[in-house]
Amino acid sequence: MQINETQLKQVNTQIGRLIAADNFYGKRLKAAGVDQVATVEDFLSLPFSEKEDLREAYPLGLMTCKEEEVVRIHSSSGTTGMPVIIPYTAKDVDDWGEMFKRCYEFAGITNKDRIQITPGYGLWTAGIGFQNGCEKLGAMAIPMGPGNTQKQLQMMMDLKSTVICATSSYALLLAEEIEKQGIRDKICLKKGVIGSERWGQKMRDRISSELGIELYDIYGLTEIYGPGIGINCKYDTGMHYWDDYIYLEIIDPATGKNVPDGEWGEIVITTLVKEGAPLIRFRTHDISRILPGECPCGSKFPRLDVISGRSDDMMKIKGVNVFPKQIEEILGQFPELSSEYQIRISHLDGKDSMRIYVEASGSSDFKDLQKKVADAVKSKIGFTPIVYVVELGFLPRSEKKTKRVIDERFQ
Ligand code: ZN
Repeated sequence: MQINETQLKQVNTQIGRLIAADNFYGKRLKAAGVDQVATVEDFLSLPFSEKEDLREAYPLGLMTCKEEEVVRIHSSSGTTGMPVIIPYTAKDVDDWGEMFKRCYEFAGITNKDRIQITPGYGLWTAGIGFQNGCEKLGAMAIPMGPGNTQKQLQMMMDLKSTVICATSSYALLLAEEIEKQGIRDKICLKKGVIGSERWGQKMRDRISSELGIELYDIYGLTEIYGPGIGINCKYDTGMHYWDDYIYLEIIDPATGKNVPDGEWGEIVITTLVKEGAPLIRFRTHDISRILPGECPCGSKFPRLDVISGRSDDMMKIKGVNVFPKQIEEILGQFPELSSEYQIRISHLDGKDSMRIYVEASGSSDFKDLQKKVADAVKSKIGFTPIVYVVELGFLPRSEKKTKRVIDERFQ
């Protein structure tokens, strides 16, 4: 998906503003002697920006507008170091709301829906993003925020919520709780808008069948606007993303070069109209691919496949590169297993070893299952893991992101 003329013009406006603001990227452009781009090649020679650059700009070094124009800041969670602060102008907040409204519309949600919002409100972009889009759409927001599952279920029944917005982990937790309490017939949910983490088909199927709802994947990240820059439509053929607000490239993470449409690589995003903190060629480290061709819905917005992992999630075990997604796909072939798993990597007696904890979904011969799973991993990936089958519900569920890979070699 090559950058077009309109987008190049928008990038030039951004470049002018970044140079004037003299922030890290403005300085980088000046050092490279670049003050505009005329061609696709010019654009592709622009330097990348990284999360680390954004951290170093803490607290307000990314601000590219006048301070009096900033109406709000958001911050990424900062679990792995210094947080990143993103300033927003009124127009940025409004643009984000418009994109989010479009997401709801693509999911077939209307102003007659009642949207229960369980992602957190506050510094991070989740809850408030879902809320803005909902209000722009004219639907009824039920701004619950995370946790307090009993109250969530009570409100869901009393207010007859029709849409649930949640992380996949929390949607699963709610689905299991509804099942356990036998209140399925009191729940009016029709759709789920699920964001913020990678999830497999198996987990999707479980949430969708236990709640009896259609699921929509929403994409986004705090550094860009927040959730809401893309979503799948009802044909479920990848996520449409809004190329009037962002330009998206897929690169080979090792070489930094663009890969052809259809090939997997790392998502790199350029904001086209952002004022508070525009970013050029920001490396997200999310792995996906652009889907060529047109969606049956007829929309011209291009499509991105599911986020299959993080370029930094790659595990090197016994000299073999492994992505959690590969293990997940293998586990997905066993109907005897639930969607939950945990991978632990350790270094024992001078050798790397991988332990995989999986949950049995019913009663089966654990010993036999352990061997079958280990053999399947060996034949697909090339080494034999140690597999432990545990009972359903044994592995941790989380209200935010479930940590599935624990590398004990670095602890
Ligand atoms: Zn579509």
